[in-house]
Amino acid sequence: MTACLNGKTALVTGSTRGIGLEIARQLAMAGCNLMLNGIDEPSAVNLAITELRTAGADQVAFNDADLVDPAQATRLISDVMDSYGCIDILVNNAGVQHLAPVEAFADEDWDRIVEINLSAPFRLIRQALPEMRSRGWGRIINIASVHGLVASRHKSAYVAAKHGLVGLTKTVALETAIEPITCNAVCPGYVRTALVEAQIASQAQTENISLEDAAESIVGQKQPSKSFIAPCDVGAMVTFLCSDASAQITGSVFTIDGGWTAQ
Ligand code: NAD
Repeated sequence: MTACLNGKTALVTGSTRGIGLEIARQLAMAGCNLMLNGIDEPSAVNLAITELRTAGADQVAFNDADLVDPAQATRLISDVMDSYGCIDILVNNAGVQHLAPVEAFADEDWDRIVEINLSAPFRLIRQALPEMRSRGWGRIINIASVHGLVASRHKSAYVAAKHGLVGLTKTVALETAIEPITCNAVCPGYVRTALVEAQIASQAQTENISLEDAAESIVGQKQPSKSFIAPCDVGAMVTFLCSDASAQITGSVFTIDGGWTAQ
């Protein structure tokens, strides 16, 4: 089923590459106008914009708000309103990771992860909700992680932030339950993007094995499917959650994890 989202305006944070770019691509294919966001080089941004135009997006804009800065996060929604006059869909996707044992976790790494992965979604939802209410329709989708449901060693800040994001999702769903606005979370397992490539490279170096062996080991330890999840599968789930068919789905948490959390 292809959702029809013709003329809707969608903001996807962290959409200049990886999962966010695939979400933006599928929303563009469903008819949305897009506001991209990210902190990548101009060449990556231009490539992302070209890809989305090819995918059929009528209008694509870009905003370089660095979501570690609360002021920039707060300004992002105003910039969407200035560009498009409305915001119908908010996908909180930008996220960062850092691995360290909890006793060696630096304050600055903890704060950066919690700010980008949890506090920025809160600030963006707070700003976007009144705009959605004024138009009587809205979709908020938070890209959490299996780490919003279960833990892994050395990921204390990420696990805490993603658990928090799942909790935020449920609270916003309750506060909007009688309105035509929904809020849901998507929890992917391992998707082979830049975020996971860093972990693969680090394990390959530590264990003196090839990148492919490290990738196989990382995914094999957690995902019974022993395969990475395709970014477009996350995009398809998000697009479904924006469709009319999902009007009564709110406060839900969807895993796409090759069986990880079934164990
Ligand atoms: P990625 O590193 O490939 O892309 C991250 C995106 O976020 C980029 O567009 C980057 O520019 C943007 N970004 C990073 N820091 C930012 C900041 N300070 N302000 C604004 N934008 C910023 O990551 P990904 O794998 O595509 O991850 C996307 C989301 O999916 C994250 O929330 C991540 O936690 C989640 N996730 C990823 C996986 C995985 O295996 N890759 C699994 C579960 C959940």
